[in-house]
Parts: sequence; structure tokens; C-alpha cells
Amino acid sequence: MTDPLDTEIVTAEGEVNVMGIINDLAAGRISPRIADLRFCYDGCIGGPGRNSELTGLYKRNLVISHFRKGAAYRTAPQYQQHTERPDLSRRFTDRYVGLPVPTTDDVRKILHAAGKFTRRDELNCRACGYRSCREYAVAVFQGLADLEMCLPHTMQLMEKEHGKLVQKYELAKRELAMEYGDEFIVGSDRKTLDVLDLIKQVGPTPTTVLIRGESGTGKELTARAIHRFSQRNDKPLVTLNCTTLTDSLLESELFGHRKGSFTGAINDKKGLFDAADGGTIFLDEIGDITPKLQAELLRVLDSGEVRAVGSNASKKVDIRLITATNKDLEAGVREGWFREDLYYRLNVFAITMPPLRSRIASVPLLAHHFLEKAKKKLNKSIMAIEESAIQAMVKYHWPGNIREMQNVIERAAVLTADNLIKLDNLPKIFADISAEPLAGELPQNSFKAEFAPHVMKIEKALLEKYLFEANGNVSRAAQLASIPRRTFYRILGRHGLKGRKTVP
Ligand code: SF4
Repeated sequence: MTDPLDTEIVTAEGEVNVMGIINDLAAGRISPRIADLRFCYDGCIGGPGRNSELTGLYKRNLVISHFRKGAAYRTAPQYQQHTERPDLSRRFTDRYVGLPVPTTDDVRKILHAAGKFTRRDELNCRACGYRSCREYAVAVFQGLADLEMCLPHTMQLMEKEHGKLVQKYELAKRELAMEYGDEFIVGSDRKTLDVLDLIKQVGPTPTTVLIRGESGTGKELTARAIHRFSQRNDKPLVTLNCTTLTDSLLESELFGHRKGSFTGAINDKKGLFDAADGGTIFLDEIGDITPKLQAELLRVLDSGEVRAVGSNASKKVDIRLITATNKDLEAGVREGWFREDLYYRLNVFAITMPPLRSRIASVPLLAHHFLEKAKKKLNKSIMAIEESAIQAMVKYHWPGNIREMQNVIERAAVLTADNLIKLDNLPKIFADISAEPLAGELPQNSFKAEFAPHVMKIEKALLEKYLFEANGNVSRAAQLASIPRRTFYRILGRHGLKGRKTVP
């Protein structure tokens, strides 16, 4: 019996009271030192399993009657004899199911399947969750691990898959290019015909070629044409733009690398020189490579051997090298940012791609050529280009060269609502220059014809003045002249001043 005033010791009987105290305890409303809780209420007959249909008195009588029967049972002789203790002992058996133990040969086969042929291949990197490659191989044998759990191996497989996809992509691209005429240089002007002659002459030889010219003049197209005319045209043509990669990545891309030669080099990798073995390698923007890479490239050209990054072994390669640049390499040699010995190695046979503004005679032909390509690409049935649009294109100076023209035509093909490309479909600058007369269009004895040369002279002198004041910076010069940069650039082209240093 507890003191009803004592809050340190709590006692309760019955489901409702007990649950109430448990809830109070859980909520922190009470904190007794002792809680004596009994779910039963009024003895066993009031317990949680009670039959609530019966009254408490009736249940009490049932208990008493049961007790009386039990007393008679407990006095029976056989009950008296049951004195020994029941056997409570327990027996335990080893339930471990033995896993199969692989032989050395089994482990070796699994390691081979995971691309580990030598001890060096066993990286023991723990990426699979096992402490070593051998422990992992045992787990694979026992069916506790999968081959795909080896991360370096899975990455190697993915890299191979990637290589296959790249090859497929290159093939598809080539087929597409053949279909769309990408491999052919289009033009009927004298300069284009001269370039085609040079390609045909140098193509079948093993000579190193340096293609020069402004951006967008078709240097890669020329490299492809040279490869097509060569004896190696059944072998790969590997192309790489040297400006797209950092120095170290470029080195690894060109020469390959050995596993572990730098962070992230988880596998051996073949370089492009190796991939192009027997074929041609085309390095675009060669003027942008660093002196370190220039030295490496020179070594390859001198020895005919490539050495992967992190390797001491060299491998002979048979490649034909074609390079391209829009940089002034001679200035590079003079100023010291381009090696002279490499310059002479590369500049064995130079082809200079003429800018589009000097191939005006080919503009209509090119425009229609690009229209055909745009039609196929966009699946549109455009029949022709309006004459005024062609004339505007002939007058335009094309600072972005062929690439710009291709984009202009494709844009116009997208914009046109009928089957004709009109002047309105070209960028606004074409409408502006369409209003300007072509040189030689005016009658010789007209006021305009006599006035025009004077205007041109003044215009040129002004351009030179602005350029001088802007220290050769075209954007700044255009600002000083208060005219849009593109317009300024176009007028520069008209006077042959683009890219020239101007002094008063
Ligand atoms: S992930 Fe592959 S390489 Fe790394 S420990 Fe596991 S099995 Fe060996």
C-alpha cells in the first residue's frame, strides 16, 4: 500500500490508468522515482484479456472453482512423484554454410575477366568494396560480387565503347559529308582553281603541308581533300584543333599516356599519332601550341617515334602531317613564340587559302552550293536565291569567309516562308549594301563616277587616321568614328586595310 500523498512512488492498476501514467511519463508531466504499474485490474479477472461480457463476481466464482479442482489434482500420487527438474538444457549446432574456395587458377581467370593480367593491373583501390583485387576475385567466385563492381575495369570498358562510338560517328560523318559534298572545294575563280591544282599535286606525295589563311576559309576542307588525293586515303585521317585543349590534355591526346602518369590516368591511352598510324594527322591552329609542345612535336617529326606521357618506351609511327594556322608564324619566329626549326619542318609545302572577298566570282556558285546543303538539312524545298540577294552577297566583304556565308544561307533558308531566298531573308547589312553601287557600275562621265574616287580617297584617309588614333584596335577605331564595328570593318575590307597596321 502506498501513501496516496506520495508523488515519488506511483502505483496504478488497469489498462486505462496505466496508459494514462505512461502518457504522462512520456510527455514529462510527471517524474516519480518509482512507477508500479499493473495492467490487470481487480486481480487476474480484471486483466486486459478479460471477458468483458461477464461480471466481476461471476469471474471471481470461476477462479475459485478452478482453484478447488486444482487442489485435488495437486494431491494425486502421480503429481507427487513428478519431482525431478525438467531438462532445460539447449544444444547448438554450427549453422555456417561453407562457401566454395577458389583455386589459384579460378582467381586468375576472374582477374583476367576484370582486365587484370599483371600485378601492375591490380590497383587494389578498394572502389569495389573489397580490400584487394584478389579478395574481390574470391568474392566473385563465391557469387558475392559482380565483375561490374570493379570501377576501373568498368570505366575501361566504357572508354572502349566510347572509342567504338566515336569511330562510328566519324564514319557516319564522312558518309554524310560525301553525300552533302563536304569533301569538295567549290569555286570557279582563279584563286580556288590554283588551290585545287596545288592539292592535286601535293596530295599523292608524303610531303608535310602547312595550310594558311583566315578563319573560315576552308583549311580543314583542304586537309581532307589532300588526304583524299593521297595514297593513304584508305587509312584514317585524324583531326585535332589545338586550341580546344589545355597543354597537358593536348599532350596526352597527341602522344597518349601510361596509366598512373598523372591524376586521372587510370588506364593506358593511345594517342592520336598512334591512331593515325599509316594515315594522316591534321593539326589545326598549330600556331597556338605552347613551346613545350612545339619541342615534343619537333621530336616526333625528327625521330618518327612517339612516346606516351609517363612512358620510357618509344613507338615508330608512320604518319603524314598536315597543319593549319591563321597566325603569322614568321612573326612568331621573329618574336620568339614559335620555334624556327619547327616552322621549317611544317612549312614544307604551303597552301594559302584565299579569303572569300578575293573570290567574288565564286560567290553565286557558293551561295547555291550552300543552299543545296541547307535544303537537305532543313528538309525545305527552296528553289532559288533572288538576284538582288546574290548581288548583295557579291558586294559584301565576308569577314567570316565561307563559314559565315554558309551560316547566312542556312539562316535565310530557315526564315524564308516560300521557295525563294530573298534579300529580306539575309541579315540587315545586306539590304544596306545592296543600295551601294558596284565598282564600275556608274557611267564614266557621270558626276557620281568622277566624284566616287575622291570620296574613296577621303574615306581611306579617315579610316587610317582612326586606326592610328586607336593604335590599330578596330573596335576602338569604330568607336572614335562613331559607326558600328561591323560597318567599320566592312569599309576597312573595301580599302584592303583589314588586318594591316596603319601609320599616317
Ligand atoms: S575496384 Fe577493381 S581495381 Fe579496385 S580493388 Fe576492386 S577489383 Fe581491384
